Amino acid sequence: MERIGFFLCTGCGIGDALNVEALGAVARELRAASVATHPSLCAPEGVETIRSALMSGEVNGVLIAACSHRAKVAEFQFDPTQAVLERVSLREQVVWSHPPTQEDTQLLAEDLLRMGLARLAKTTAPKPLLETIERSVLVVGGGLAGLEAARAAAAAGHPVVLVEVEERLGGYLAGLKEVVPDCPPYDAPHVNQLANLIAELSAHPEIRVLTSSRVRGITGQPGQFHVEVETPPGVESLVAGAIIQATGARPYDATKLAHLGYGRSPNVITSHELEAMLAAGNLRRPSDNRPPQRVVFIQCAGSRDPQHLPYCSTECCATTLKQMATIHRDSPGVETAVIYRDMRTPGQIERFYQAVQAQPGSLFTQGEVAGIDGNGNGPLTVRLGESLLGSGVTLTADLVVLATGMVPNSADGEAIRALRDAQVRAVKGESETQRAEARKVAEQLAAHEGTEILHLQYRQGPDLPALRYAFADSHFICFPYETRRTGIYAAGTVRAPMDPAQAAEDGWGAAMKALQCIAALSRGEAVHPRSGDLTIPDFFLQRCTQCKRCTEECPFGTLNEDEKGTPQLNPLRCRRCGICMGSCPERIISFPDYSVDAVASMIKAMGVPEDFEEKPRILALLCENDALPALDTAASERRQWNPWVRVIPVRCLGSVNIVWIADALSKGIDGILLIGCRYGDDYQCHYMRGSELAHTRLGNVQETLQRLALEPERIKVVEMAHDEYSRIPEVLDAFAADLEKLGPNPFKGF
Ligand code: SF4
Ligand code: SF4
Repeated sequence: MERIGFFLCTGCGIGDALNVEALGAVARELRAASVATHPSLCAPEGVETIRSALMSGEVNGVLIAACSHRAKVAEFQFDPTQAVLERVSLREQVVWSHPPTQEDTQLLAEDLLRMGLARLAKTTAPKPLLETIERSVLVVGGGLAGLEAARAAAAAGHPVVLVEVEERLGGYLAGLKEVVPDCPPYDAPHVNQLANLIAELSAHPEIRVLTSSRVRGITGQPGQFHVEVETPPGVESLVAGAIIQATGARPYDATKLAHLGYGRSPNVITSHELEAMLAAGNLRRPSDNRPPQRVVFIQCAGSRDPQHLPYCSTECCATTLKQMATIHRDSPGVETAVIYRDMRTPGQIERFYQAVQAQPGSLFTQGEVAGIDGNGNGPLTVRLGESLLGSGVTLTADLVVLATGMVPNSADGEAIRALRDAQVRAVKGESETQRAEARKVAEQLAAHEGTEILHLQYRQGPDLPALRYAFADSHFICFPYETRRTGIYAAGTVRAPMDPAQAAEDGWGAAMKALQCIAALSRGEAVHPRSGDLTIPDFFLQRCTQCKRCTEECPFGTLNEDEKGTPQLNPLRCRRCGICMGSCPERIISFPDYSVDAVASMIKAMGVPEDFEEKPRILALLCENDALPALDTAASERRQWNPWVRVIPVRCLGSVNIVWIADALSKGIDGILLIGCRYGDDYQCHYMRGSELAHTRLGNVQETLQRLALEPERIKVVEMAHDEYSRIPEVLDAFAADLEKLGPNPFKGF
């Protein structure tokens, strides 16, 4: 930016705490084209001052030194394609968190100003990518979640193609005659209305249903997905703007539950097998086709069990209640008993539980099943360990029903990709160990054979990545439907265990996200979490060494590779996290408003006193998603922290390029603190892997420091969620105290 206007707000205590004249002098020294102060810059007259400077052409870049960039967003909004904007948080990061009129507080404000001006000087206006965006939505999976997703997208006027692998729509729910009550008075099963929904959607002019069909390949990017679908007449090619995967779940394999008698006695069945009997009105013992007199239900059969399914499938308890109610109504005189660990009946289902409990002939007991004896035609004996009925109690049963959990119909695309890569490496090996490794990989790949669903032609693998327990990835805190593949959303039981009511809601939720994606791309904007961002990364490929770090580390599969390993950008897949920028050793990836060079310039702009005894300096790189909001919240409560800290917000810790650490250390900065999101399976990182990647990269840097005889403690990574904001002063102050003990950075003054 050539003509930067500096606008300083003196409201919110800024003018009282800081020497405003001195701040203006700093801006003038750094060649700001204009300097203006205002007692309330966010008020209409203040905003007008900025707008007129822009309209007159006097400035084409604006530095607002006032509140945090997270405050007054609507007020300080100017056309980003016309003028670039940088905000310096004098309110939160300086005057609300440090004592007024102190030298250290003033130095902090002046440093932040210099850093903001340095960044602005390296920022250019974005050029939005305005491409032709397809409006139709592809829904893969015609169970309840998929049907509701199709209904929602079509209701909003988007054409929908619904692909279902089976001959008929409806999935698991289509096999049910009755369902758990979902409206008052919640005391008896309801007739399954799914057929009406299927009829409505089958006749909908915006919905095309392809049954007995499978997706065979997906190329392209959101807004421009090219999809090959294998249908009974032949392969059909489609274009879709967004995709919803609602491929559901299947019952856990009961043959693994031999300890509960499955497979040993024909009269031990699963709740799904009982469902078929009840739907047909034919409650019988499989061994002799006679009606049972007592049916015993065993809850959590294989669920919440580390040896089988460690999670709760959430709907089995309600399903058992429904089956009991049906038995008591249709087969009077038959006794039912339930052995549970906890009956999980949230919300209004508790009323249904009470209604079934009140039915004569029903028994509920908490307890552990120690074993099931019996086989052939004879009665079964269910032995209980500790239970509410006492210890060592036995129950006889004619029929035992195992309430088995659900397993998602998913494929772990990243695991498949990793195995394929490992296979390529392993088959090149000559030694016996390498051949053994190749065999092992081949076996593991065989286990994935036939599981692929989307067949994505992505460098990162053919399907959505899966979390533990194989559910399709989603950010369970902030972005439940959004997966790691932009424009592809997960809905229903492929995403998480849930009951039909939740699955229906999930379908709508995912559809809304798919439509938001299409709308954002049509405006040239990024989807979440940087909604509205008009920038796209630029790769200066003439200097690319094909190291593949960016293609491997981009969490969103944005980058494919050509045969040499050169990255191929699919910009509409990009979330603008900057992780590729952090990974690139050649530093050739940048955004118009966020680059290695811009942040390096900010670091260079920091004033580093040579006299450590008085003024050590700390660079804090804070993730803008949680850590920075946490800092703002701490400031809003007027919590105070060490004045030696200079904060640079980053899009994600994964976007931190190691060169910034080297720059900071060689400049004499005494310590570098990185605060980002929690990582691991229950990650909180908005870019899924960014925080984890930063830990790995920084771990390597610390090793290098040790080799250079520099204390690794000078670099610290801290995980923090927004709601942990009260830790901010403690973390910053403790790091400053640790650095004081370490003494000055030995590079200081060189
Ligand atoms: S900015 Fe993020 S999403 Fe985009 S290419 Fe880089 S790593 Fe991938
Ligand atoms: S990380 Fe940089 S050098 Fe390596 S492949 Fe990507 S763009 Fe090329």
